Amino acid sequence: MTIYSDASQFAATNYDVLVVGAGYSGAVFARRYAELKPEARIAIIEKRAQIAGNAHDFIDDAGVMVHLFGPHIFHTHMKEVYDFLSQFTKWLPYEHRVLANIHGTLVPVPFNKTSLEISFGKEKSELLYQELVEEFGEETKVPISKLRASDNENLQEVADYIYENIFLHYTMKQWDKKPEEIDGAVTARVPIHISEDDRYFQDVYQGMPKEGYTKMFEKMLTHPKIDVFLKTELASIAELSDNTFIVQGSPFKGLVIYSGPVDELFSSDMGALPYRSIDMRFEQLDMKSFQEAATVNYTTTEDFTRITEFKKMTGQEDLDKTTILKEYPQAYVPGSDIDPYYPISNPENQALYEKYAKRANMITNLYVLGRLGQYRYYDMDDTTKAALDLAEELAK
Ligand code: UDP
Repeated sequence: MTIYSDASQFAATNYDVLVVGAGYSGAVFARRYAELKPEARIAIIEKRAQIAGNAHDFIDDAGVMVHLFGPHIFHTHMKEVYDFLSQFTKWLPYEHRVLANIHGTLVPVPFNKTSLEISFGKEKSELLYQELVEEFGEETKVPISKLRASDNENLQEVADYIYENIFLHYTMKQWDKKPEEIDGAVTARVPIHISEDDRYFQDVYQGMPKEGYTKMFEKMLTHPKIDVFLKTELASIAELSDNTFIVQGSPFKGLVIYSGPVDELFSSDMGALPYRSIDMRFEQLDMKSFQEAATVNYTTTEDFTRITEFKKMTGQEDLDKTTILKEYPQAYVPGSDIDPYYPISNPENQALYEKYAKRANMITNLYVLGRLGQYRYYDMDDTTKAALDLAEELAK
């Protein structure tokens, strides 16, 4: 494999498969397909100057491994996904733990038994915890929307407290909407834990790639039949005409795997699909440790949603300096240098997505993947699974 720094060496006639995007969808698909179809010659084009999509990481001037597009913590219950990625990396055992800063007081998030005790005091919290257990059972996870629907007065008080101090302001910052105005599945990603479990994720497989995500992607893409072309926009080499991709002037007969925003395939001519974005602001600090946990969520104050201190999750605690990231949510502006990060799930956007997906379906050699292509709030493991499944299906 070769990674070319631009499109100048790209010739469509050299390839049977054109993959758009070198993030999880594109890279996983390419690698799995190359293994299953040894004769296929695969080109990945990537508009950015680097691989690994939003999982891209690198070592910064302070010596800290940072995630350019925000903290990525790998977790999955799918052995197949874990085994596939483990071919390309060793893992640093890591379990993510998050604290919420509630007007200066730190409590575990997901909100759990310990958070209850810190917020309500020992005596009262014991009573409340018993009532939570009676209503929902112990060792269970309860979405905030479900807790708010409880008709137990004491639990309503707990629900109001958590809603106000964990969800309302963070969600307003992140989505510019109240929790009840967004898809309930989004806040349900961080349910209340009726237990002492303070891990952000409960999956059996959790960890950080030992040398980082970018290295893992480099290994994944190191295959004799895969070439990568950086700084290459699809529109600079191809156009759609009568449901056919014309690549460098000729119809492209091979497979096209696309992991960009699905509406952009059609110049967003039925309207742009909305996304949320984040302005990532890094600070390198001359101190050994900045905060008590890898991530602290600012759930009641500040304009940023959270601060991540990377060395606490990359096994670099011994470094003398530290790097932190503050995430400032912002609107996505198509065509600007602001990247789309999160699809905004609601019935209207879903309907628009379906219309684009239907058109994409009419193009017989096109397959659309990923957070942007499928307009879904995918985690890394879901994206990997979808790409593996598609490669296996198409290789049959
Ligand atoms: N959320 C919140 N307060 C928190 C953590 C999460 O309100 O302290 C809500 C918020 O709406 C957020 C969603 O839960 O967008 C999902 O959180 P998650 O940590 O999964 O978001 P991600 O890491 O994917 O940005």
